[in-house]
Amino acid sequence: MPEGGISARAEQSATLSRLVHEMLVSEETAKLLDSVDEPETGPEDFALLRLARREYERAMKLPNRLVEELSRATALAQPAWEQARARSEWTSFAPHLEKIVPLQRETAECLGYEDHPYDALLDLYEPGAKKARLQEVFEELKAELVPLIREISTMSDGDRSRPLYGRFDESKQEEFVRQVVSDFGYDWKRGRLDRVVHPFCISLGGPGDVRITTRFDPGWLSPALFATVHEAGHAIYEQGIDPAYSRTPLSGGTSMGVHESQSRLWENLVGRSRTFWSFYYPRLRETFPEALGDTNLETFYRAINEVKPSEIRVEADELTYNLHVLLRFELEVALLEGELPVSELPAAWKARMEEYLNVTPEDEANGVLQDVHWAAGLFGYFPTYTIGNVLSAQLFEEATRVHPDILEEMDNGEFGRLLRWLRENIHRYGSRYDPDELIKRATGRSLETAPYLRYLRDKLGELYGLGAA
Ligand SMILES: [Zn+2]
Repeated sequence: MPEGGISARAEQSATLSRLVHEMLVSEETAKLLDSVDEPETGPEDFALLRLARREYERAMKLPNRLVEELSRATALAQPAWEQARARSEWTSFAPHLEKIVPLQRETAECLGYEDHPYDALLDLYEPGAKKARLQEVFEELKAELVPLIREISTMSDGDRSRPLYGRFDESKQEEFVRQVVSDFGYDWKRGRLDRVVHPFCISLGGPGDVRITTRFDPGWLSPALFATVHEAGHAIYEQGIDPAYSRTPLSGGTSMGVHESQSRLWENLVGRSRTFWSFYYPRLRETFPEALGDTNLETFYRAINEVKPSEIRVEADELTYNLHVLLRFELEVALLEGELPVSELPAAWKARMEEYLNVTPEDEANGVLQDVHWAAGLFGYFPTYTIGNVLSAQLFEEATRVHPDILEEMDNGEFGRLLRWLRENIHRYGSRYDPDELIKRATGRSLETAPYLRYLRDKLGELYGLGAA
């Protein structure tokens, strides 16, 4: 969109948000919801009704004015953020955030909560999640990960990721990753792959059209391999939802965290494993004989799993990633509580980056301005990335416990059994169960960090020779 369109688009968005909101809170909706005779509904209709009521009740709590103001403020803040980031200029973005923070606080107050205003916002992305429980999860992660990262950081054993840089023909990259996501079970009759700057997955009205996007860098192999596989993980989830749920509140994934667990499972638990590459690496090397001819499987495996604290979240390795999320979680809670004024955010950001990752951001573009979330009004969203990481390991551990042959299949580039387990236990249900119930049904337990920490300790301990980890 040209710059001249920004303010008109902001007004259009504000009007549309208000209209959608007014329709949802109308008397007609109330009458329809009241007219349902519950005892006659089956379990699926009951779930549908529960979700429809939740959406209605949430909307009823938000005044039209607030919905419209928030929509306008975020529509203006996003292009301002883009420019501010391009110039690394915090002062031009700060006034927008000054407007958004009180609107987030007001949203939380209107929605209501038992313990903490953050819970009300979190619930929009991760139904049932609580700040108090998240704090425990982060404490458990921090206690193990911070010392582990320090230990690895002291071992300067050269630049492990070097094999990922070189000359890689883009059309060959595309051919290779298309094959990989086909092998995972991504259905091309119900999807497609296109190129963008910031990869994403989008479902256009149910499991019949779920598209993915990715990017290819002719000098760097990582985005093609891991962004594509990540987005395919999201898409495979959407493609697996019961088609009968389409165009109802039951369609789509049940939460952002569960969604992210699916993308992370394919990206990390599968796509960064030695088992996976023992099959695919010979094929990758055949695809790029010049760039990878001198690199063996082990060196490649070390390259894709290099731990290296850096300032950018989206480029972070598996070990440091959650500390990027932790610092955002702490900062947005402090903003919401009014403990941290917007003006002090860059300094608070820098202090935590140094404490957790021993990294000093080069400038604000690579620091506090790197993510769009706050400009988009998505307070409460960041923790879902960590929920996804933690859950991906819990699900994979359970799937391979029940079906040890999943690993044997992976050795041969086959994923049918893993996909079937995910389809049966996660995908098909769409939004029918809230995350906690879905996770308990699939693994017998609520979300827990133990499987994830076991996975990281075993993998990185072996990769970095960290003794009896
Ligand atoms: Zn994702």
